[in-house]
Amino acid sequence: MTLPMHDTVVAYPSGATSNPATVLHVTRLADGRAVVLLDTTSCHPVDAGWPDQGADRASLRTAAGADIPIVDCVVAATDGRSLYLGADIPVRKGEDGWAFVVAHVLADGAGVADGDAVEVLVDADYRRALSVGHTACHVASLALNRALADRWTKQARVDGLGSPDFDGLAIESSIIGENGSVDRFRLNKSLRRKGFATDALADELARIQETVDATLARWSGAGAQVSIDRDGDGLTDRRYWACELDDTAVRIPCGGTHARSLAELGSLHVELELADADGTPVLTMTTSASPR
Ligand SMILES: [Zn+2]
Repeated sequence: MTLPMHDTVVAYPSGATSNPATVLHVTRLADGRAVVLLDTTSCHPVDAGWPDQGADRASLRTAAGADIPIVDCVVAATDGRSLYLGADIPVRKGEDGWAFVVAHVLADGAGVADGDAVEVLVDADYRRALSVGHTACHVASLALNRALADRWTKQARVDGLGSPDFDGLAIESSIIGENGSVDRFRLNKSLRRKGFATDALADELARIQETVDATLARWSGAGAQVSIDRDGDGLTDRRYWACELDDTAVRIPCGGTHARSLAELGSLHVELELADADGTPVLTMTTSASPR
């Protein structure tokens, strides 16, 4: 069969951790591993452009009943002739004539062929831990924006709660882990030119941390529902994390998976650390949830 020319249908935004699927294409890579493309999948792939949430742990169950581990799961793109994985994708999402697909990487691909009926099975415990970690990351960034609001000396772009969007303007990388996240913010010249004051920040870190924790305790105590709004069910259709905080509906563009309620996060805690990276101050926020 030729390479599919439409985006993979993704079931993970709704929380699915298993689904029946049809194998559309199997490609063998130069290193001997195989890439399996399916019509639909509940396995969350890592995105090369913004790799915050990693791949799910999952396997493919064949019609013969064998469970084949998915050793990696990445976003790929195809023009119908070739398949490009992760960082090798040469075009942007939505480019005409290209399909964006979920590439399920297997150690060798033996036992899977085009047209096969298979089942995707995702490790639900690991997924739950990543979903809690990802939701914790979003609320912590909103709480941090609020705690840093008085450091802005100029009008800056604001987040969904009306605070200057420190997170959106300074984020360098975000790594979602099990029940937590690590976010790195660069306090570079451009951020300071936009009005963010860094003076005496180190001395205030403990106070800021307490403020963030207090906001998070209030939000998780209120236990608001979390949902994922979608423009469609394809891999590249826009998706948004949606939650109501302090009586305000907040939407953040996000391709990941999430807890269904802030109550699932239990008690939340952040650690802030200020370091120097070649002359640029870098603020690191480590967020941990204690899910019940
Ligand atoms: Zn996100």
